Amino acid sequence: ALELRGVTRKFGTSVAVDDVSFTLNTGTFLTMLGPSGSGKSTTLNMIAGFLEPSAGSILLRGRDIVGLAPNKRDIGMVFQNYSLFPHLSVARNVAFPLEVRGASRKEAMKKALEYLEIVDLKDRAKDKPRELSGGQQQRVALARSLVFGPDLLLMDEPLGALDRRLREEMQVSIKRITEQLGATVVFVTHDQEEALVMSDVIAIYNEGNIEQFGTSQSLYLNPASRFVAEFIGESN
Ligand code: ATP
Ligand code: MG
Repeated sequence: ALELRGVTRKFGTSVAVDDVSFTLNTGTFLTMLGPSGSGKSTTLNMIAGFLEPSAGSILLRGRDIVGLAPNKRDIGMVFQNYSLFPHLSVARNVAFPLEVRGASRKEAMKKALEYLEIVDLKDRAKDKPRELSGGQQQRVALARSLVFGPDLLLMDEPLGALDRRLREEMQVSIKRITEQLGATVVFVTHDQEEALVMSDVIAIYNEGNIEQFGTSQSLYLNPASRFVAEFIGESN
């Protein structure tokens, strides 16, 4: 499980994340949904270790990870610009996190091919990233972030750069793959439809606070505030 307790982050005098607490059970898909500037990425960056909290603790499998370097946290990450290594083949991109952790080239490549199979790109193993479409590159990034068996997968608007059709396709693949692997996921979007399709639970952010945390159904049926009702009801 992932647990945030009283997590706060200030930038100067402004409070980006204000006393946020929640528990996410292992194998659960959480989406953080909320307007621009409401604190979603700041929360994610604290979980990842790119930012330290001003106060509070973050526990992953019962261990407080605040202060640990990002690469010591066993967390996989996917961002909007997938940042694949352009000079490495698709397979070596996926193998990379394993090699960094001390696996031999041969072992790492074997596992990389297994994960490329899961994301349905085994036949593109030898290609360079630029030879793939945006959605395919995003699936390579997903395989790379899961190949070392992280305790948690973080995704900050991973589909933001894709067109609508590809976006819907990717929603389905991400859901299928993370479910198949039993991954614990924190996913950020400001698209409420995307949140409703993908999530087990949703956290509605507003001005650094979580207004409501619950299943999509409970948010729909029992919005805790006018803000939640309007935000969930809004369509693009
Ligand atoms: P978006 O949907 O636009 O990505 P967000 O919910 O991810 O928004 P954050 O990026 O977490 O929002 O930003 C929350 C607040 O913290 C904003 O007011 C932002 O200006 C501020 N903030 C974020 N990072 C920094 C920083 N490095 N320095 C100063 N202020 C920051
Ligand atoms: Mg953001």
